[in-house]
Amino acid sequence: MPELKMPANLPDPIINENAKIVLQRRYQRKDTEGVVYETVKELFWRVASAIAAEEAKYERSTVKPAKLARDFYDLMTSYRFLPNSPTLMNAGTDLGQLAACFVLPVADDIEGIFDAVKHAAMIHKSGGGTGFAFSRLRAKDSVVGSTGGVASGPLSFLKIFNCATEQIKQGGTRRGANMGILRIDHPDIMEFIKAKERDGELNNFNLSVGLTEAFMQAVNEKADYNLIAPNTGEAVGTLNARDVFNILVQKAWESGDPGIVFLDRINRDNPTPALGEIESTNPCGEQPLLPYEACNLGSINLGLCFAKGRNGKDSEIDWDELKRIIHLSVRFLDNVIDASVYPLDQITEMVGKNRKIGLGVMGWADLLYQLQIPYNSQTAVDMAERVMKFVQAESRSASKQLATERGQFPAYPESTFGKANLGPYRNATTTTIAPTGTLSIIAGCSSGVEPLFALSFVRNVMDNDKLVETNPYFEAALNSADAYSGKLMEEIAKVGSIKKMDHLPEHLRHVYVTSMDIEPIWHLKMQAAFQKYTDNAVSKTVNLPNSATKEDIWDIYWKAYEYGCKGVTVYRDGSKTSQVLCTGDGD
Ligand code: ADP
Repeated sequence: MPELKMPANLPDPIINENAKIVLQRRYQRKDTEGVVYETVKELFWRVASAIAAEEAKYERSTVKPAKLARDFYDLMTSYRFLPNSPTLMNAGTDLGQLAACFVLPVADDIEGIFDAVKHAAMIHKSGGGTGFAFSRLRAKDSVVGSTGGVASGPLSFLKIFNCATEQIKQGGTRRGANMGILRIDHPDIMEFIKAKERDGELNNFNLSVGLTEAFMQAVNEKADYNLIAPNTGEAVGTLNARDVFNILVQKAWESGDPGIVFLDRINRDNPTPALGEIESTNPCGEQPLLPYEACNLGSINLGLCFAKGRNGKDSEIDWDELKRIIHLSVRFLDNVIDASVYPLDQITEMVGKNRKIGLGVMGWADLLYQLQIPYNSQTAVDMAERVMKFVQAESRSASKQLATERGQFPAYPESTFGKANLGPYRNATTTTIAPTGTLSIIAGCSSGVEPLFALSFVRNVMDNDKLVETNPYFEAALNSADAYSGKLMEEIAKVGSIKKMDHLPEHLRHVYVTSMDIEPIWHLKMQAAFQKYTDNAVSKTVNLPNSATKEDIWDIYWKAYEYGCKGVTVYRDGSKTSQVLCTGDGD
């Protein structure tokens, strides 16, 4: 690819204080002594120019690489869009691995298992996270044909994956993150459900139980269901579905783990069933993938798509601007696929067939604050549907445009799009909503589609750097209500929320809600609203107060199913002493 020279008049990016620390620690290039030799401006130019340079190989492209590089640079440094962390870290470098999400198969033999351990290590080294289904592994104590011994089962191998992850500092930047999934009808499912009951156990894994429609029906009917030996396909026992669901809920109440994913639902939306069945997602659950598939993500900062109405009334979203950002971002993410060097040939091949990308949003809570819409309201849920419907439609339209310039994704003819004659499209999926743990720090916005954790708080950034952060939209609202004072800010930093501060104006307490002020049902309704128009899945945690009961969690798990979510994760305040993965401040 031709090198694109940095233009002399390229403006310096404006960087917030938290971003400065994060970028320097993890993203700016360092020499062998660990000394940073890249400025933030050079970082963003490295990424923008490397991704834009891919354009040159498409003869029918309508855009010039040099102009595109500048557009990408402006897009990122205005924090309207950011690609996932591996792209920021590795674009334009020798490593060149740009995707955050991978799923690897785990075969039912020693060679296959240790291949997966090795492949995961290679992916972690490059900054990616891995998901695995352990469902194909034969149950503990089943016979091993070649030795006449007995198998040790999925759980014993999970520990090996966990240990291996512990030892690999990802490219000197992040420690590995994994998802482990086991089907509900696997004979070792009870052991799996209890696997994280001791704090710190399997610390490099998020666990999710893969639920099926048949199982959910059995729960509803209080019926028994069969456990199936994966190696023989035979039913080897039965369990009562409701009892198992109860224990699942109990464990999630105790520690947040395991979460649940609805496997049949994920496969119903699998765009290329001819290429295989989806058994797992990436570590934070938002990206279901086929074995050996990878996906790169990127997020649009909705907080910057606010359009103030005249006289402060009729504020809206700047739809034209959002459309422009979506189209540019889809081109960016499609180019990332070409620019990326994957650690395994099988992955290069799979990614080449489907060309999945995951464009999502962050800064949702910031946008709602500006629109003066409480997160816990039907108006917000309706707005979520409207926004995501637009993102999905426009990202697909951008993908169609790219298909005319560069051709459809190779698996298109055998895909559900091809069969329904919908395309051609350049990408088998275009939308995913990521947690944006670190991206939201860089962009200085609220993360993903989550409500704010606190209006003002002390953030622990990596080791021991402490930073006080106040939401800028909240601060502005306090100022214009003449309510701002240093003493008040100290008070708010202690509790995070203003819900109980009667001395503050009612409308402020109504609009500026935080995750703890929001009843679980609104978390779920919001997740479902975004999921309705997302090809892949939505990363969302239903935050609960410490006083939440097991019945509350049962209700959430059940409603997640009824509302059409692809999975759900709950977190009860104070139920884990160690930091949750992917919050961006310690992983
Ligand atoms: P970021 O903001 O750093 O781009 P996200 O918090 O949005 O990342 O997470 C997106 C995905 O990136 C995760 O689901 C996972 O696949 C991967 N990921 C996140 N954190 C890590 C980590 N510490 N190690 C490896 N992969 C990670």
